[in-house]
Amino acid sequence: LMQLSVPLNFIGFIYREIRQGIADLEAMFSVLAVEPEIQDEPLAENLKVKEATIKFEDVHFHYDEERPILKGVNFEVPAGSTIAIVGPSGAGKSTISRLLFRFYDVTSGRITIDGKDVREVTQKSLRDHIGMVPQDTVLFNDNIAYNIRYGRVNATDEEVKEAAKLAQIDHFIEALPHGYDSEVGERGLKLSGGEKQRVAIARTILKSPPILILDEATSALDTHTEQEIQSALDVVSKDRTTLVIAHRLSTVVNADQILVLKAGEAVEQGTHAELMANDGLYASMWSRQREVSEAEARLAEMREDD
Ligand code: ATP
Repeated sequence: LMQLSVPLNFIGFIYREIRQGIADLEAMFSVLAVEPEIQDEPLAENLKVKEATIKFEDVHFHYDEERPILKGVNFEVPAGSTIAIVGPSGAGKSTISRLLFRFYDVTSGRITIDGKDVREVTQKSLRDHIGMVPQDTVLFNDNIAYNIRYGRVNATDEEVKEAAKLAQIDHFIEALPHGYDSEVGERGLKLSGGEKQRVAIARTILKSPPILILDEATSALDTHTEQEIQSALDVVSKDRTTLVIAHRLSTVVNADQILVLKAGEAVEQGTHAELMANDGLYASMWSRQREVSEAEARLAEMREDD
């Protein structure tokens, strides 16, 4: 029997490995949502980031030839600062983040990091320098510690816990029956959108990239969760060049600059105060959203009174 149990254990091990491998691949492809058509240039170098200044220079882009999406977008994000990209649905906001990550190549114009065109560096080195916190994070079928450690696989338990703390997800994890060993993902505990986003933030804290892309969830969060996520984001974006696809007033107001995108064009650009004084698209979007937030707050109060 002993002779049989070793191979059986081994088969069990292989089975678990394969199952996890498939889960990881599935997760990876749904995160990236890419057709793997972008190739490294034969002479591509490794990206070296000193300051992490990002520049979009007259960027044009389309997915399908007959439908231009970005029509000459220009902006610069100085090292360590935050740009918030706002605008109506379909304006091309997420497209900007996909181009920076080089899921696609620009049709014309260029995108540079510290002056280097992103098409001239290896995709691996580019992505090693960029942390991406997507709207909807895919969790692996494993425990929550594994899911956080994914940001840097050799991180110690202490580092994982520290990252969870900075991402404001530590109290939630400690209250779970199995703490950091609790299984999550499809076959485990289901986490809410806000919890998943904080797991993604913890991962990114461990990865510690010089450049950060945040795609804020559009779904309404309660005020408390929103504050927790906001302070987690403040931690992770500190001293990093950050591009936020912003849906929350709190993020937008605190950004160093705001780019207002409409149908693929930057129609306004400046700080919150400057754009409010402008009294254009941004000011009207802002007052509309404030009305919505106030109405949501009133509804929440009414529910608490019940
Ligand atoms: P939202 O606020 O609704 O997320 P957005 O400003 O981020 O919108 P994008 O996701 O950048 O908008 O999309 C811009 C346009 O490009 C949309 O009209 C969308 O339908 C189109 N688009 C996005 N991805 C693809 C794709 N893979 N293939 C073809 N068209 C696409």
